[in-house]
Amino acid sequence: MSENRVVQGRMVTPKKLAELVEGDSVMEAEAIEDADRDCPDCGGDVISVTYMPSVTELVTGYKCQDCDWRERTDA
Ligand SMILES: [Zn+2]
Repeated sequence: MSENRVVQGRMVTPKKLAELVEGDSVMEAEAIEDADRDCPDCGGDVISVTYMPSVTELVTGYKCQDCDWRERTDA
């Protein structure tokens, strides 16, 4: 399930979504999933992606599909 998703009106791949959360390039990204939560800023739908910003780090990123809100947590 490596479907691309629409974020803020633009189609993004898992890797592109991870880069939006990270604010930098990433090495690997897994499939985009629906997060079971709403955006705290706008109430929009939140999606998540688990990715590796470097060989030693595994991170889960959350991103609102409708606004700039994002969150980065250690996976
Ligand atoms: Zn939002």
